[in-house]
Amino acid sequence: MPHPGMVRAGVEVTPLCDAVGPMGDQIALPLPQMFGGPDHPVWARVDPAAPWVLHFHCYLLRTPDGRTVLVDTGLGGPDSPAAGWAPVPGRLATELAAAGVRPEQVDTVVLTHLHSDHASGSLAADGSTPAFPNARYLVQRTELDWLEASGSPLLDAVVRPLRAAGCLDARAGEVTLAPEIKVFATPGHTPGHQSVAIGDHQLVVAGDVVLHPVQLADPTAGYVYDDAQPTATLTRQRLLAELTARHGILATAHFAEPFTQL
Ligand SMILES: [Zn+2]
Repeated sequence: MPHPGMVRAGVEVTPLCDAVGPMGDQIALPLPQMFGGPDHPVWARVDPAAPWVLHFHCYLLRTPDGRTVLVDTGLGGPDSPAAGWAPVPGRLATELAAAGVRPEQVDTVVLTHLHSDHASGSLAADGSTPAFPNARYLVQRTELDWLEASGSPLLDAVVRPLRAAGCLDARAGEVTLAPEIKVFATPGHTPGHQSVAIGDHQLVVAGDVVLHPVQLADPTAGYVYDDAQPTATLTRQRLLAELTARHGILATAHFAEPFTQL
């Protein structure tokens, strides 16, 4: 069953747990090597030997006037681009059904970024039909430019089919989806990473701006797989400062607990 979720600024926010498990051996490193490096002072305060069991959360946002927004589409099925490193295939469709939502009811999909654990559930099993047939799929233009240059398998698996179906929206910077829902740029983990603010930062669905609780203990503990660690650290510090000032909620993709009160 889905997490019960919470309501902020009138928007019902429901975490959908797509998967749980450790990172595959192809990319897994000891925790201190992944966050900040073994000499980072945070490792004097946090257990460096604790295993990292990732959760993969997508988020469902429902407004009082009937908007249904999905933030991220998770790992996708057994043939997805994430299959090489992800612990198990995603179960987003089951979670969505358990939350009482049919795929055709989703009107907007916000892809925080184009990594295989956040966008691979965007297409149906045939690989060409959008999994959410009535939705616009929202990404930052800079993310698409970066992906085109990278030659990522997500180009063929996600971007080109969505573009061919006419449902991909490339935007630049802030986008107002509803009076109480804004999408805004949070670059660093990837160049076009974006997050979703509910109300006046009462809750922010922040994708991979903060990946592991060690980055709450010290936001300067950069992630080895960030595209640009200095930018990512600045973004993380700004977001955490804003949420702390407003006593807001941080909603992350990979924490065990989907919501963190700041
Ligand atoms: Zn991720």
